[in-house]
Amino acid sequence: MDIYYRLYGHFGPRHWWPADTPFEMIVGAILTQNVSWRSAAAAIENLKDAGLLSPAALLSLPEEQLAKLVRPARYYVQKARKLHAFCRVLQEEFGGDLQAFLALDTRTLRRRLLDIWGIGPETADAIILYAAHKPIFVIDAYTHRIFHRLGFFGPKMSYDAMQRFFMQHLPPDVSLYNEYHAQIDALGHTTCLKNKPHCTLCPLGKVCSFFKPTLQEIAGIG
Ligand code: SF4
Repeated sequence: MDIYYRLYGHFGPRHWWPADTPFEMIVGAILTQNVSWRSAAAAIENLKDAGLLSPAALLSLPEEQLAKLVRPARYYVQKARKLHAFCRVLQEEFGGDLQAFLALDTRTLRRRLLDIWGIGPETADAIILYAAHKPIFVIDAYTHRIFHRLGFFGPKMSYDAMQRFFMQHLPPDVSLYNEYHAQIDALGHTTCLKNKPHCTLCPLGKVCSFFKPTLQEIAGIG
């Protein structure tokens, strides 16, 4: 929680997830895999402009045409296939009723999501947290990089072990998990960069085992 408060004090509320509906959130979670949010957002705009942001509408479009629309999100052939795979499960098993699908208990929902082609743990957990509003902590590459540098994680810690770490140390609170993941993303995106992190500007500098400030820097961040 100390780390959370330092981040929140620095960045303020992040207002995640940027989507108008749960379905749009899910589409965004698939489209943002391995690319920046900006690229995913451009693809979502294309789908919105074409009036395709519903499971039935997406399924009615041949995969090649869908791929053209989501091209800004890169890996567009695969991503069109992933969107179709998700929508097919929704239509065939839940009659297109997204709320019924999201109402599954967390374990069942996670298992069903992970069985869908193209949905891994990070995407599944983002959907559970941000679309189903159930308390599960989302791990991504930023989470590992930052908490490894802070000294909490080993270099090859598994997704599940990192998730357990957060969930054992935090109360099961959807709002907290929502904001904490968004704060980690903000730090990873702006400050704790892969190469040359901006440690002197970092709100976690004083508690980070990676940061070895010079005497001048200590005076500056004191
Ligand atoms: S002090 Fe540096 S290495 Fe540590 S979390 Fe901040 S930016 Fe990352």
